[in-house]
Amino acid sequence: MATGKILIVEDEKPIREMIAFHLTRAGFDTIEAEDCREARRLLADERPSMALIDWMLPDMSGLELTRMMKRDNEFEDVAVIMLTARAEEQDKVVGLEGGADDYITKPFSPRELVARINAVLRRSKFAGGDTTEVGEITIDSAAHRVTVGGREVHLGPTEYRLLKYLMTHADRVYSRNQLLDRVWGANVYVEERTVDVHVRRLRKALTEFGVQHHIQTVRGAGYRFSAHGH
Ligand code: CA
Repeated sequence: MATGKILIVEDEKPIREMIAFHLTRAGFDTIEAEDCREARRLLADERPSMALIDWMLPDMSGLELTRMMKRDNEFEDVAVIMLTARAEEQDKVVGLEGGADDYITKPFSPRELVARINAVLRRSKFAGGDTTEVGEITIDSAAHRVTVGGREVHLGPTEYRLLKYLMTHADRVYSRNQLLDRVWGANVYVEERTVDVHVRRLRKALTEFGVQHHIQTVRGAGYRFSAHGH
């Protein structure tokens, strides 16, 4: 499988080497950094397609590194999985808000890690295509057209972008704030409840086709497009 390199950013050498060993065995090409400074150099020089980033690093936190990457046009497409000893749900939300694509809590099994990596790579490959199909809904990005069973769903431009973002990042929860950043843009000032208004419109449009159940509200966290709709 051609996946590009995976950058492992972890200051604890035994853990870093253990991860590299298992990933190499699973067929991935790995590069290693022990701190954020080295990670930034490797990101620029080696162009990895994914980074596994430990939360606690000596020079700056893994979360800060992730935020820095996601703000940078050059590195925003590098998929990020955060590795952490923290098991709190709140930390998970913070990690994902920082732009991580997934989150794995230590200790994890090599099998679990490889499965997560494959899932994230599948999703990011998927996001690059011209046509996105999840469940009964198809988005043709070139034509800006959304269809369900061949029938066109008429959406406003914001609903279209919102649906596209959620569908290409299916099964992940996004906070209102995060959706504002990703769908409306980081420098646009809009109130958080604006997101609710557009989600409501999007659901209404999808209701006509009986596929509104894919757009889910996650209490206290935000919204998610569920591929299976439950
Ligand atoms: Ca660490």
